[in-house]
Amino acid sequence: MKEIYFDNNATTKVDEAVFEEIRPYFCELYGNPSSMHFFGGQVQRKIDEARNRTAALLGALPEEIIFTACGTESDNAAIRSALEIFPEKRHIITTRVEHPAVLTLCRNLSKRGYRVTELTVDGDGNLDLDELRAVVDDDTAIVSIMHANNETGVIFPIEKIGAIVKEKGALFHTDAVQAVGKVPMNMASSTVDMLALSGHKLHAPKGIGAMYLRKGVPFRPFMVGGHQERNRRAGTENTVGIIALGKSCELAGHYLAEENSRVKALRDRLEAEILRLIPNVRVNGGGAERLPNTTSVAFEFVEGEAILLLLSEKGICASSGSACTSGSLEPSHVLRAMGVPFTCAHGSIRFSLSRFSTDEEVDAIIGELPPIIQRLRELSPFGREFLQK
Ligand code: PLP
Repeated sequence: MKEIYFDNNATTKVDEAVFEEIRPYFCELYGNPSSMHFFGGQVQRKIDEARNRTAALLGALPEEIIFTACGTESDNAAIRSALEIFPEKRHIITTRVEHPAVLTLCRNLSKRGYRVTELTVDGDGNLDLDELRAVVDDDTAIVSIMHANNETGVIFPIEKIGAIVKEKGALFHTDAVQAVGKVPMNMASSTVDMLALSGHKLHAPKGIGAMYLRKGVPFRPFMVGGHQERNRRAGTENTVGIIALGKSCELAGHYLAEENSRVKALRDRLEAEILRLIPNVRVNGGGAERLPNTTSVAFEFVEGEAILLLLSEKGICASSGSACTSGSLEPSHVLRAMGVPFTCAHGSIRFSLSRFSTDEEVDAIIGELPPIIQRLRELSPFGREFLQK
């Protein structure tokens, strides 16, 4: 069975061109970039090229890029650094809808005496900037607010947020793991001080990430040891990962327009057909500005996990908005923060497309989904009640 992979916010396929780019760096060009000899030097030059390519996608300077192991590390490094830079400041601002890479860290820090404000969102997943303005104060060390939400694709107005944060002299970090490659970025004219990105969301392999650190912004690394990455991230470089990330950033720049036209059109058609063919469906965050590749659809009176299993039997890969915690199925914290009714949050499915998604795949999903939902509603007591109405 050939898979129909519509779970690209979870991870992406490595682009063949990325794979070809890194192939020589496993068995032939395996030198350590820190070595003095020519053999290490040729790898160092390739890393320089990767840094330039990554910086170009962000509109940043090459020296503003620090390679890390993943998006999670980049998020942790930024927030922990800000707290070390401003030891007297004890306030952190974030949102209720962040990825656990930020939210878990902030909640842990709140147990260690930091004051953490988690901003709320409205029914469409939008922030209230007046709430931010009211809570940011001279005690705020860092504001960490994601660029785009991994579950709903809702995009936050990063530059407006940054302008408010800057008025109070706090540092501004954004988790742009889902936004990079889908939203144009220009750090040169941005209010962002630090940004996280991750290779495996961008058609590079897993285990490589990067952090953007604005020139002049002080930084304290939590990975210490060797002098790699200008003393900002110790450890022998993941050379193949870095080279892959560089190539994937170059390709992402190339495909950015397509992502916002062809991929968006596919997503819009998928969404419109689901709404047309299936009753009692809503799009989570449908009224907000969203990533072009993501749709989170709530099917009332069904379990998201059951939909996923039946889709999976047909070769279709999507993901649910629920996390199975301690044996009970909890609706996702993002949908709960948006106030999505319980009956909808439980039946929420995320489809996330990529430049490899096709019209035929959208047709296949549109063909399979309505009978699956009908069948599940017939099986559930609430669903049966609804169908009898
Ligand atoms: N931030 C967001 C918004 C994400 O979607 C993810 C991954 O799903 C991460 C951070 C973590 O990235 P990584 O898997 O590279 O650690």
